[in-house]
Amino acid sequence: MLPKIDGNKCVGCGACVKQCPMNVLELGDDHKSGVARPKDCVECRACEAACPVKAISFN
Ligand code: SF4
Ligand code: SF4
Repeated sequence: MLPKIDGNKCVGCGACVKQCPMNVLELGDDHKSGVARPKDCVECRACEAACPVKAISFN
């Protein structure tokens, strides 16, 4: 399962991008986090834990 990022909540802090061990996430031109390399995700959920505004979920 891939992380779902709520663009309405994301404040573009980049914490999830830094914490992801697989370099899956990227900040886009809109300064929101996005799943850039979905095939590399190992579902460790470090991104979810890192997000200060709980914008990432796995539901
Ligand atoms: S679940 Fe882990 S590997 Fe997947 S995007 Fe989040 S931090 Fe990266
Ligand atoms: S940690 Fe949360 S608020 Fe920060 S860029 Fe990632 S999804 Fe957005």
